[in-house]
Amino acid sequence: MNRDDFPQLKSGVIYLDNAATTFKPRCVVDRVNDFYVHENANIYRGLYDLSVKATQLYEDARKIVADFINAEPEEIIFTSGTTDSINKFTQMLDLSDKVVATDITGHHSNMLPWREHAKKVNYILCNQNGCSIGPGNCAEVNDSIDMVAMSMCSNVFGDTKSFEDAYGRSDARVLFFGDAAQAIAHKKIDVRMYNYNPLALAFSGHKIFGPTGIGVLYVEKRIHDKLRPTCFGGEMVENVTKDNYDLAPIPQRFEAGTPNIAGVIALAEAIKYFAKHQTEFFEHEKILAENAHFGLSEIEGLHIVSTKNDPIISFTVDGVHPHDVAQYLATHNICVRAGYHCAQPGLDFLEIGPVTRISIAPYNTLEEIDKTVSVLKNLRKDMHV
Ligand code: PLP
Repeated sequence: MNRDDFPQLKSGVIYLDNAATTFKPRCVVDRVNDFYVHENANIYRGLYDLSVKATQLYEDARKIVADFINAEPEEIIFTSGTTDSINKFTQMLDLSDKVVATDITGHHSNMLPWREHAKKVNYILCNQNGCSIGPGNCAEVNDSIDMVAMSMCSNVFGDTKSFEDAYGRSDARVLFFGDAAQAIAHKKIDVRMYNYNPLALAFSGHKIFGPTGIGVLYVEKRIHDKLRPTCFGGEMVENVTKDNYDLAPIPQRFEAGTPNIAGVIALAEAIKYFAKHQTEFFEHEKILAENAHFGLSEIEGLHIVSTKNDPIISFTVDGVHPHDVAQYLATHNICVRAGYHCAQPGLDFLEIGPVTRISIAPYNTLEEIDKTVSVLKNLRKDMHV
């Protein structure tokens, strides 16, 4: 990993809030800039070179995103982020008579839209060891539910393998939805590995070195005939008369209006960068995560609540509120996140409450981890606890 690729790291800050959003490599920043300086035009309708080129770049980006998760380009719908993808998807399906199961430890973004639109939401009871705790929870995956909508990696507990657990226990009729907001940055996603069940998933560009305001909704072709448009206007229709219209093919049908063209093109740049180094990134992250877990587990009064050796590390400290932990680290130029992390039902259910979270990216270093651990060693003493 070449840290020089990330201009913001030059500030010297120890940035360990990568599950919230990552820093951006220079190539992504330049790609946004180049588009607006040299290539700016609207897509699809223009017959002049600039518009034709912008359309080509936009559709090339769709292919790059599709290849990254082993999907077909027409299975990729661009949105503004994971939250937008899930909100759209829950409205694209008619869920009024559907029972949906979701993990109790999931993010609010993968909970509230289903609660809003489905007939009923059942919770799959999970903890840092997967989804097999609680009475009878997994039977619900097979018997009474129509859909499972789960995190593929929790933003609090890391990769709990809950998605795989639930997937392994389901029957083929159940539609699976994966919230890949965190998973996309920490494990290789190949959508064809989940061929047994129909699948959709969502992720955001900004958690994988891309810009904010751009996201992906992947919907497998097998489900396309179940989808209805939720947003109407230009580009999602072919012929429009005073009383009728013909829908454009998928995915354009679900991308009404002028999209975030520069965002899509820069997301493709981020994905090219990430894909090129993916194996090295995962290996490096693993070493950092193991060191962080080891160092933190030695600190008296500090309790790790997330999956062992995962790059997303949540913990509590006896006698110190997580906000005070985060503020203390901030005074040492270390950025972490504290609180409920938009996953309050799970943290309440497990009786953990708010936590402090360190989340590692490939550009972090062993020195940064060691520094963070050594600062935390002094926390309780400095707080007079
Ligand atoms: N799902 C999970 C697991 C997340 O961690 C997040 C954001 O942190 C989201 C969904 C929402 O992502 P976004 O805010 O990019 O829409």
